[in-house]
Parts: sequence; structure tokens; C-alpha cells
Amino acid sequence: MTAQAANPIILLGPPGAGKGTQARLLEEKHGLIQLSTGDLLRAAVKEGSALGREAKTYMEAGKLAPDDLMIRMIADGLQKPEARRGFILDGFPRTVAQAAALDAMLEQKGLSLGHVIVMAVDEEALITRITGRMTCAKCGEGYHDSFKPTAKPGVCDKCGGTSFIRRPDDNAETMKTRLAAYHAQTAPIIPYYEKRGILRRVDGMAGVDAVALQIEKVLGAV
Ligand code: ADP
Ligand code: ADP
Ligand code: ZN
Repeated sequence: MTAQAANPIILLGPPGAGKGTQARLLEEKHGLIQLSTGDLLRAAVKEGSALGREAKTYMEAGKLAPDDLMIRMIADGLQKPEARRGFILDGFPRTVAQAAALDAMLEQKGLSLGHVIVMAVDEEALITRITGRMTCAKCGEGYHDSFKPTAKPGVCDKCGGTSFIRRPDDNAETMKTRLAAYHAQTAPIIPYYEKRGILRRVDGMAGVDAVALQIEKVLGAV
């Protein structure tokens, strides 16, 4: 993945598709920077910043936060010097307006998109994934009650932390709104990228390692 290292990769898929899981693996393996708008928003909410306060209501309701706010957030992320080595976008863009703004930002930097990887997962499986999701409070490692439990109950494999976070929006009820937002507002960006020939589909129903392998193949790393 040398020649394309600077070209950003987008991981696209409905909530629970495995974007965060795969982005973290790519970060570890290839030293790419992961820019996750969901993680950035949750950090802003925790800090209680103006941006966090604005985003909180949308997140709790399972609705998308306003485009202008999200575009500003990504513009800041792209300024980071580490981003020059290449980055993975997880959770952005989520609307056609965001996708168009991203194109303009990248063009200004002389960058163009590498691959847009769509992770397809059945709706029923998404709900099971979301309702069992938890994250280590200390290092952010993601787990699942059934699909990726910690080796030792209640102890993070990565850092030994013993406190885990469950997102308030990870419930079956809010998930309905999030899925509706995905279909209405996010799915239209699939044809937007397909037309440009940069869209790649992977079977997100496979296990974590098998999905990772499909992604590595797309990136030409194996
Ligand atoms: P997203 O970032 O797309 O919302 P996550 O990566 O957080 O999704 O994954 C959602 C949940 O499903 C997590 O608990 C994660 O451990 C689990 N998970 C991720 N990928 C897979 C997979 N391929 N098979 C089974 N469970 C998975
Ligand atoms: P998931 O991992 O389940 O796909 P995220 O963590 O990416 O969810 O996002 C959580 C919430 O943050 C979304 O439901 C939405 O309210 C908000 N959000 C994240 N990224 C965006 C974005 N690009 N545009 C609008 N809202 C966003
Ligand atoms: Zn941990």
C-alpha cells in the first residue's frame, strides 16, 4: 500500500457494520490515521464543548448532525500533520453534501480519494451487533458480548482496563431511526462514488478477520 498511502480511504456502511473495528485494524497494521466523526462527536459531548452540546440532541435521537458542523469537524481533522501519511474516514461522509465538501477539501490539498469500501450487513445482524457493543473506557478497544468478548470477563485484552462503555444510542429503538437515516441520507452516496469507479463492496457478514482480509485485498496489500 505504498503508492496510495496518502490517498484517503472511506469505510462506508450502516451503524454496526464494523467500520470502527476495521478502521482500528487498518490503523494498527498500516499506521494510517483513523478519523471517526462518531468518536470525535462523543469526545466533544464528553468535554461539553459548544459543538458537543449542539450534536448531543441529534445523536441521542439517532438523527444525523447538521452538515456544516460535520464538515468543519473534518476540515480540522485534515489539518493534522499526521493525516499526511494517509487516513481512513469512518462515519464521514454520511450525506451527498458532505461527500461533495470532502471532494473540495481534498482537491485543495492535492489529494484524491483512494477506495470507498462499502460494508454490507443484514439488518437483523446489525441490531444484534449494536445491542451487544461495548468499548473499553480506557483505551477505546471495541468488544461485543457474543462476537468479541474479552478473554477474561470484565478485563480489556489490550490494556487491562475494567470499565466498559455502552453507547446510549445503541438500543433497538434508536437503531430504527439510525437505519432510516442511513437509507434516506447516506445510501445515496453509494451511486455518487460508484459512478467514479472507486466503490468497492465487501461482505460485512463475515467474521472480523475475514472482513479484514477482504479489505486488505481491495487495498492491494495482500
Ligand atoms: P460501526 O463502527 O460500523 O458502527 P463497530 O465496528 O463498532 O461498527 O461494530 C459493531 C459491533 O459489532 C461491535 O461490538 C463489534 O465488536 C462487532 N463486530 C464488528 N465486526 C464484526 C464482525 N465482522 N462480525 C461480528 N461482530 C462484529
Ligand atoms: P455508528 O458507529 O453506529 O455508525 P457513529 O459513531 O459513526 O455511529 O455516529 C454516531 C452518531 O453521531 C450518528 O448517529 C449521528 O448522530 C452522529 N454522526 C456521526 N458522524 C456523522 C456525520 N458524518 N454526519 C452527521 N452525523 C454524524
Ligand atoms: Zn482497554
